[in-house]
Amino acid sequence: MNKQTAPVLELKKVTRKFKQGSQMLEILKGVDLVLRPGEIMALVGPSGSGKSTLLQIAGLLDKPSGGEVLLDGQKCGKAGDALRTVLRRDFVGFVYQYHNLLPDFNALENVMLPMLIAGANAKAAAERAEFLLSRLKMDKRLKHRPSEMSGGEQQRVAIARALANQPKLLLADEPTGNLDPKTSETVFNALLGIVRETGLAALIATHNFELAERMDRRVSLEEGRLVELGSLRSEASGGGESFY
Ligand code: ADP
Ligand code: MG
Repeated sequence: MNKQTAPVLELKKVTRKFKQGSQMLEILKGVDLVLRPGEIMALVGPSGSGKSTLLQIAGLLDKPSGGEVLLDGQKCGKAGDALRTVLRRDFVGFVYQYHNLLPDFNALENVMLPMLIAGANAKAAAERAEFLLSRLKMDKRLKHRPSEMSGGEQQRVAIARALANQPKLLLADEPTGNLDPKTSETVFNALLGIVRETGLAALIATHNFELAERMDRRVSLEEGRLVELGSLRSEASGGGESFY
């Protein structure tokens, strides 16, 4: 396939089994997914359906039991740990439900860190971190540590950190799941704005009906397989309610 038109992320017949005592639990039973450059996709499904498992596999943090994961057209299944680490660092940004910021570093430093680890010089890293944080309206909080910020502010720093190394793929696991509705709206707007502006592809797990509706596509994990959903608007009766 032509590299320029390759999907950012492709999953082919991905399975994932976990051993539970003497039993094998099959959580993913053959997941197929194609995410193209610039596409923003909502991943929904009941709690325990395997959304986090799928995101971890897509981000090379976990290996599938079967099937293939391709990033930018490149097969990752047989890649060794060193190559997987490099691919993950250069290609993927992660946002979690809980921010996972380092408590002893301020906002600016938390965003700089992935760039420094990737070999950027400190001045360039600081400039980019400041740019991202001001784009997320966090320019007044550069020197604040996580404990000195609200939940929404911490999550905006986490988004900036995920984008630090200019990934092509953003994976977010219920990024607003821990926030009150108003803050959730602000953080989601910031996330969507910067993703659209940057033109990267995103796969975002969410329980929020309204947020899913505002993405380009919606897929649901049902019984270990992905089902593409149309618009949810006809089923929606108001704002912000959950699927389940
Ligand atoms: P979701 O994010 O949709 O709530 P998860 O992907 O976290 O779902 O979990 C899906 C199922 O897989 C759950 O039943 C969970 O208990 C199981 N599971 C996830 N990770 C492991 C693991 N490392 N070992 C055993 N079971 C696991
Ligand atoms: Mg989860």
